[in-house]
Amino acid sequence: AQVVKGPAPLDASKTVVTLAENLKAVPPAEELIFGQTMTDHMVSVTYHPVTGWSNPEIKPYANISLDPACSIFQYSTSVFEGMKAYVGPDGKPRLFRPEMNMQRMKRSVARIALPAFDVDELLKLIKKLVAVESRWIPNVKGHSLYVRPTIIGTRPSFGVRASDHAILYVICSPTGPYFRTGPKPVSLYAVGEQVRSWPGGTGEFKLSLNYAPTFWPQQLAAEKGYDQCLWLLGEDQHITEAGAMNFFVVVKRDDGDLDVFTPPLDGTILPGLTRASVLRLTVAHGETTTLPNLAHSLKLHTSERRITMVDLFSWNDAGKLAEIFLVGTAAVVAGVGRVGFEGRELDAGAMGPVAKALYERLTDIQEGKVEFEGWCVH
Ligand code: PMP
Repeated sequence: AQVVKGPAPLDASKTVVTLAENLKAVPPAEELIFGQTMTDHMVSVTYHPVTGWSNPEIKPYANISLDPACSIFQYSTSVFEGMKAYVGPDGKPRLFRPEMNMQRMKRSVARIALPAFDVDELLKLIKKLVAVESRWIPNVKGHSLYVRPTIIGTRPSFGVRASDHAILYVICSPTGPYFRTGPKPVSLYAVGEQVRSWPGGTGEFKLSLNYAPTFWPQQLAAEKGYDQCLWLLGEDQHITEAGAMNFFVVVKRDDGDLDVFTPPLDGTILPGLTRASVLRLTVAHGETTTLPNLAHSLKLHTSERRITMVDLFSWNDAGKLAEIFLVGTAAVVAGVGRVGFEGRELDAGAMGPVAKALYERLTDIQEGKVEFEGWCVH
């Protein structure tokens, strides 16, 4: 009988490592600009419809040469992830909840019908690369190695259909704190005319094609003097996200407790790891943990609910708006100041105590100073 062998699965144990002969000089930690400096090596694996995933390579960082007809250039078949590696007090590299990035990447890949991959094998590959690049992880508070796994469709023809060829690569860039001069509040311009996502769309996936259409509205917001867009959706002008971060608002209750609200994952919101972690930490506050500089007795009532611009302005007018903050891998937690909307503006102030507490606790967990529910892995 003939043995039919299917396409090979991704297999990290077959990795071939070729180290760079000349290593780059690592810039001083305080001079790092987000996403500008790349490390010495990259992971590279190709997918062919007959043979499957090739043996993974860790090799010197280099250009990729592609046929100009490739799917990625014509139809934007591209997904990516953003994650960070830190060095702990033990000097060992660690990753923050990386299995969540892997699961999200798997869903993104499926959404645009790129070849599937084994999430555990990709995580092993990432760990191997981070180990090779460990000298690039700045051992300074607020610093980390940003890791960018990417999968692009490389089918070299115009047929308007799924790409059954792909390249999976992982590159890394050392980064410092998002706000070097201390936390400065982010200003937001509410945009409803252009939307980032819509029901049935792709907003809940990390597809490259979600990002390009945000650049022009972002320029318009910048021309009006705001840092980022606050993305609205629907007749009721409800909030989805802001910039490329998830949105949170803290509202004072009549009983002196605080409500912490974020929009629900209804398909239009990217399910951020930081969002999930912030939800967990606010629920755990006063129960299994106490967030830095918040009273143990302060009750945070966390819930996922729809937040409209009318809600935001009414809380503000009633003196109940305590804090607005944004969360994501790059900045971790950023306080929001001004919010502009239809010729009006509210000012939520600077980074508030809840946002600060979450920033402190999350960075302490990420940098290995505090252990929480096994979130950091080697
Ligand atoms: N929303 C968007 C659109 C993003 O690109 C990101 C960054 N991945 C986030 C939210 C935050 O997600 P995470 O906390 O996983 O970085």
